[in-house]
Amino acid sequence: MASSENPMAYLLEYGLRRVETERPELANDSRYLELKEQLLRDAEGHFREIQATYATILKTQCHCGGQLEPVDHEFGKSGGTIYDSVIAKCKSCSEAQAFQFPKEGFISEARSAMALRDYLQGTYGIDYAGAVRSDLQSRAVKH
Ligand SMILES: [Zn+2]
Repeated sequence: MASSENPMAYLLEYGLRRVETERPELANDSRYLELKEQLLRDAEGHFREIQATYATILKTQCHCGGQLEPVDHEFGKSGGTIYDSVIAKCKSCSEAQAFQFPKEGFISEARSAMALRDYLQGTYGIDYAGAVRSDLQSRAVKH
């Protein structure tokens, strides 16, 4: 996988490598390797969907004929439905348009991430999500 192009996959792999260094026995755990492969595959699929959405925005013209550019990201919940969209603004008239991301990739990745987290927690007592979070926070502080 070209993780250098995919920051999320990079973070996932980074976090998993850290866990694997602490618990070398994971290298022989086929269930773990299976869940990890699934998560990295789903993360890649999700990333492709995000890229495709951005490509669509760049190809879309405003009704005034101007070029749209992504300016913001919106993530939230409305009437029980999770939405994830990019706000694009026209470079000429500044009118904003929202582009919804497909949900499949996000849902698959989230499901795989939870399965892996639960497995690490249940079988090894490893708090993978917590480890990644504290890692990100300590790096954010250093910057
Ligand atoms: Zn416009």
